[in-house]
Amino acid sequence: MPAISSKKPYRVGRSRTGLGLFATKPIKKGTKIVRYFGPLLDSKKKKDDAIENKYLFELNGRWTIDGSVRKNIARYINHACKPNAESDVSPRKRKVVIRAIKNISPGEEINYDYGTDYFKAYLKPIGCKCDACEKKRKKKRAEARAERLRLKAKAERKALKKAEKQAAKAVKEKLKKLKLELKQKLNGAGVKQNGKLANGKHFNGGLSNGHDRPKAAAQKLAAARPRAPMKLGATATAEARDQRASA
Ligand SMILES: [Zn+2]
Repeated sequence: MPAISSKKPYRVGRSRTGLGLFATKPIKKGTKIVRYFGPLLDSKKKKDDAIENKYLFELNGRWTIDGSVRKNIARYINHACKPNAESDVSPRKRKVVIRAIKNISPGEEINYDYGTDYFKAYLKPIGCKCDACEKKRKKKRAEARAERLRLKAKAERKALKKAEKQAAKAVKEKLKKLKLELKQKLNGAGVKQNGKLANGKHFNGGLSNGHDRPKAAAQKLAAARPRAPMKLGATATAEARDQRASA
């Protein structure tokens, strides 16, 4: 690890992804923390353009800072999607300064957003390990866990409901069977609910063989029939005779 003057408000320390730069004193928002420096590479020169490492800081189409040198303390600063510092680039001066964009407390890791290109090329494939992304992942995991629990509880409720329904159905069927058995037992004793004996006899002992009723009806019918008409034949012939005589 590089030696850093104790006057500086930071130190190199262990971070989640390896090494990182940590505040050792309070750093006020807007304060310049450290310069990102190294040899300037000219993309017009073949030799410069061939250099490839993780610490290249592109200033513009032509100039790039090669920050891989050991003395460049700023290279220890890790990327964060919600950082507490930023890279302040002045292409004309070919200079980059890391500046606090929040008040940073001692012990807090200093970080800045490396930009979309770097993120896509180096961080996205392995998964960004910054606090914001870790938090997001944690939240997603917690949500997934909650969802699994919710679905489990739902399935359990459903199973319970089904079991209750089946139990109720079984009770109902048992009751139905018992009722039927009771009915059969009662029938077996020869008693019907309408008060008749099962053998067709009334309680009064008379036979309900059907012969008594038509007989009575026939008598009634006979009574209602008109009497036989009187013989009128003699009178009629006498009248006819009188008529013939007068004509
Ligand atoms: Zn991130």
